[in-house]
Amino acid sequence: MPLWKWLLLNVYYHASKPARWWIHRKLAAQRRIPIAVLYYHRIADDRATDWTMPNRTFIDQMCWLRRNFELISMEDVQRRLRSGVNDRPAVHITFDDGYADNCQTAIPWLVKERIPCTYFVAVQNILECRPFDHDLKCGVNLAPNSPEEIRAMADAGIEIGAHTYSHADLGKVTDTAVLHQELVVARQELQLAIGRPIRYFSFPFGMHANLSCQAFALAAQCGYEGVCSAYGGYNYPGDDPFHLHRLPAVCEILRLKNWLTADPRKIHTRRFEYRWNEDRIELPRDDARNEEAFHAVSP
Ligand SMILES: [Zn+2]
Repeated sequence: MPLWKWLLLNVYYHASKPARWWIHRKLAAQRRIPIAVLYYHRIADDRATDWTMPNRTFIDQMCWLRRNFELISMEDVQRRLRSGVNDRPAVHITFDDGYADNCQTAIPWLVKERIPCTYFVAVQNILECRPFDHDLKCGVNLAPNSPEEIRAMADAGIEIGAHTYSHADLGKVTDTAVLHQELVVARQELQLAIGRPIRYFSFPFGMHANLSCQAFALAAQCGYEGVCSAYGGYNYPGDDPFHLHRLPAVCEILRLKNWLTADPRKIHTRRFEYRWNEDRIELPRDDARNEEAFHAVSP
């Protein structure tokens, strides 16, 4: 980071401290302390892409988070939103895409430290051992996780979630058959690959333009218990527990500290509005049968 940016960040951090403290106090008095869900992508020391974070930075961030927040599971985030009450600052950790390098240090460390985490994977990349298009476009070829690694993570207690079938931008998809492939088939194939129910979904790219009401409706219809966007913003007790807002985990700890401590720029993020009753899609009858067959064989 250039020096001028670092200085500006420091000025903002210290100048906005009283405002952040005051907002936090007000929310704490209302028992509505927001919950943050963070998303990471790839943890490795080669800095191959902008979405790669060094191992040491990741562990330092986790240690800072653990000292200042409760690190809770996705299920717990939803439970607190549903209850309408949260008295303690809390964070949930997620990963998107499914990079093999995460299994070198980051994931084993989270498992060892018993930090809950949801790991979203683009199913086709995992099953076919296919590098991600967004990396290839930048001229780098980075290995995705193997199905064995995903199974081992699930066995170690990591919540595995789906991140579409082909890492598609669902904001651009209007064809029902494609949506079905990206949400329903992705979930079924991932469930079969790891032998466990897939409860959560995250939208690739995750900005307002990359979401759709149809995709929300189909996600609920086919059995996901929650979906994640990535356009920033907090989750307040009383908010819709089906749609979780996420914040990007950036390398600069000061920026992360700003975002996670009632940052005035983040407190009124506009929520994506969906109406799933109007956007329900007729599901093929085979889907219901597949779901029954899965539950008959799953542990
Ligand atoms: Zn992604």
